[in-house]
Amino acid sequence: METKYIFVTGGVVSSLGKGIISSSLANLLKARGYRVTIQKFDPYINIDPGTLNPYEHGECYVTVDGHEADLDLGHYERFTDISTTRANNVTTGRIYQSVIDKERRGDYLGKTVQIVPHITDEIKRNVKALGNTGKFDFVITEIGGTVGDIESLPFIESVRQLRWELGKNCVCIHLTYVPFIAAAKELKTKPTQHSVKQLQEVGIQPDILVLRTEHHIPQDMRKKIALFCNVSPDAVIQSIDVPSIYKVPLTMHEQHLDELVLRKAGVTPEGEPHMAPWLHFLEKMDAAQEVVTIGLVGKYVELQDAYKSINEALFQAATYNDRKLKLKFIHSEKLNQGNVDEMLSPMDGVIIAPGFGQRGIEGKFVALQWCREHDVPTFGICLGMQCMVIEYARNVLGLPEANSTEMDPHTPDNVIDLMEEQKSVTDKGGTMRLGAYECRLDPNSKVAKAYGKTTVKERHRHRFEFNDEYRERFEAAGMNCVGLNPETGLVEVVEVPEKRWFIGTQYHPEYSSTVLHPNPLFLDFIKAAIAYGEEKKH
Ligand code: GLN
Repeated sequence: METKYIFVTGGVVSSLGKGIISSSLANLLKARGYRVTIQKFDPYINIDPGTLNPYEHGECYVTVDGHEADLDLGHYERFTDISTTRANNVTTGRIYQSVIDKERRGDYLGKTVQIVPHITDEIKRNVKALGNTGKFDFVITEIGGTVGDIESLPFIESVRQLRWELGKNCVCIHLTYVPFIAAAKELKTKPTQHSVKQLQEVGIQPDILVLRTEHHIPQDMRKKIALFCNVSPDAVIQSIDVPSIYKVPLTMHEQHLDELVLRKAGVTPEGEPHMAPWLHFLEKMDAAQEVVTIGLVGKYVELQDAYKSINEALFQAATYNDRKLKLKFIHSEKLNQGNVDEMLSPMDGVIIAPGFGQRGIEGKFVALQWCREHDVPTFGICLGMQCMVIEYARNVLGLPEANSTEMDPHTPDNVIDLMEEQKSVTDKGGTMRLGAYECRLDPNSKVAKAYGKTTVKERHRHRFEFNDEYRERFEAAGMNCVGLNPETGLVEVVEVPEKRWFIGTQYHPEYSSTVLHPNPLFLDFIKAAIAYGEEKKH
């Protein structure tokens, strides 16, 4: 089968969930046995989101090949179990960088380099790059931003050209918003009509409209939209708010989105998608009554997207443990010796979040000391693991000034220090230790038992590391280094075996947790939290 290209654009407002719709479609096509990938094109000029503050763009996701990526790639992986790479996320910055490099090399010698055709050609080349590998039947491309934005124009123009070139092998889905005016008790279709008109003005006729809505959109209203927007009535689909994003593949399938896409791409739909494992997860999710309460100590608690992958990994792990997840965000800047008891006592387990810089760090130490002394299941991730080490050094090893050189370059006890290969690094973008690395686990550790194996591969994003010179002292005092990189000897996992569950990972296990393959460490952490919660009750 020739590769089919599906484009997903958005109109009216941002944050409609193009990523979830793209992921749901990919989920359904995969469940029908097709080979699928999803990629995102972001119109901003940063080369990648690695240099963006979470306030700007939420969590930075990391692919196995070490690309700092948009958080939508996390959704793609969680919904499809398909690994993404650097090729799955391209920004305007990357496109321009590549065109300018070619210009300097002389590739366009004699020619004026312009947005059309040079930038659009580069976009098209990138759109087709994954398709050209021959590994995929469907390449779903999500175009970031909203139609009508100045930034996204070159992308939209490229979609127009591709549609022309690809003919039947191309399907355009446009996602819009149908607002409900409470005072008039009415749903309004005008913004959708305008948005489609805007697309038509730049030469794109969408094949399918997906309407985000908080209320059911009646059939006659869909017919009206179909009439005004030149789409067939059955290709006007509603995406109504559902209690969990993981139900969206079902609501899309109920309205035949997968069949529609196949038919529009010239493929005859056969049979039904194999949804049994996904449905099994949803059944568990709906059946879960009892609650597991987890506290997440971090400094971006007011942002729901800052710890996206951790939220989802916890949710998946809770669901497989037949529990509803109650996640409490605890602001590390507000946590102190005076309120820690009140803040953390209700928790069955505590996560110490990743992060950068000094802000909120002292609150993390307060939380860690309290959790350690009260023997609460505690999971430190990346900076969280580093804080675990520092707190242990200060309060157990008796090194009161122990620190990371990230926070205090002159600390006398640099238990966390800059990695050797980082010392000469000056550029900020894409220069951390990034991507998946192998880690060997001590077979007697809780971590190895949780994974059920002694070699794992998880993803990293950091510059600092555990200082090996202190290793013996830590181990003598009860904190063991139970996960090591086999090539470099870097300490990737620490564990205090005499505690219920006191584990820190330099890597980010949350990035590899998907709906069908939840991360074993999160599963085990939630299991320990449940057991502790039960114990607390009695
Ligand atoms: N700031 C720490 C480092 O660079 C941890 C980074 C993180 O938590 N992702 O090593």
